Amino acid sequence: MTGPDVLILGGTAEARALAAELERTGVPAISSLAGRVADPVRPVGQVRIGGFGGVDGLAGYLRSSGVRAVVDATHPFAARISASAARACAAEGVPLLRLARPGWSTHPLADTWRWVGGFPAAVAAAEEAGNRVFLTSGRTTLSAFRSIRAAFVLVRVVEPVAGPLPAGWSVITSRGPYTVDGERTLLREHRIDVLVTKDSGGTMTEAKLTAADELGVRVVVVRRPDAPAGVPSVDGVGPAVQWAARCPALSARAWPDR
Ligand code: NAP
Repeated sequence: MTGPDVLILGGTAEARALAAELERTGVPAISSLAGRVADPVRPVGQVRIGGFGGVDGLAGYLRSSGVRAVVDATHPFAARISASAARACAAEGVPLLRLARPGWSTHPLADTWRWVGGFPAAVAAAEEAGNRVFLTSGRTTLSAFRSIRAAFVLVRVVEPVAGPLPAGWSVITSRGPYTVDGERTLLREHRIDVLVTKDSGGTMTEAKLTAADELGVRVVVVRRPDAPAGVPSVDGVGPAVQWAARCPALSARAWPDR
């Protein structure tokens, strides 16, 4: 058995789709998950779980595993692992591709939302926009919102939140995809008047935006962090597979059809 040729940095639906596609075409690949959620949706094929130990750890992994190419298919807001991948791949001379789903900046409703450059700005924008907040920006962003002045904050996260939360906060745990009907019901039930989200993009969590528009709920969207400079980028699995097929570092053994 040969080792993996492609390392997929994952934790997203796109990463799982890429793993399935590479498996289908007979390309040995391994998916890497951060290990943050207790019961992750596993990609097909080989999987490793846990951080690498920063840039040096990832560089060491690239050397010892014999991986010849890396696709960074992590979430658009997972900026640390993307930065690590850019530096480690450059140091080791391993080709790197960024696969990130398109954002919502071209969404038909995008002009109706308040776009902000970070989480502190999202707090201020949400305070201005309403008093009953639906916070969907993820567990790791909650600390930025702890001091928000709002009568009620509904937090939706995939994993339970550890430790006590501020008074007036309520938590629901669930994992998308969500429907417009479900989102409408949730917004109504909790009399939400402002929704805070990251520009995650994609369709899995998009329904809340439609429901918010229907109900006149204001929307605050946090812009994506900048991607590391100089890393080629695609926004779909098809182009990522094409990139791999053209990648000189991937040998004929990985591409029996060539
Ligand atoms: P992050 O801040 O960029 O990464 C923090 C650390 O977690 C990294 O430095 C790395 O540890 C480790 N890590 C992250 N992704 C990894 C991966 N795929 N494989 C191995 N180690 C990984 O990332 P995050 O925002 O906490 O997200 C963690 C994971 O959840 C990502 O894989 C991402 O795709 C997924 N996810 C994130 C979001 C989000 O909103 N941020 C949403 C959905 C899914 P070392 O430095 O030790 O290598």
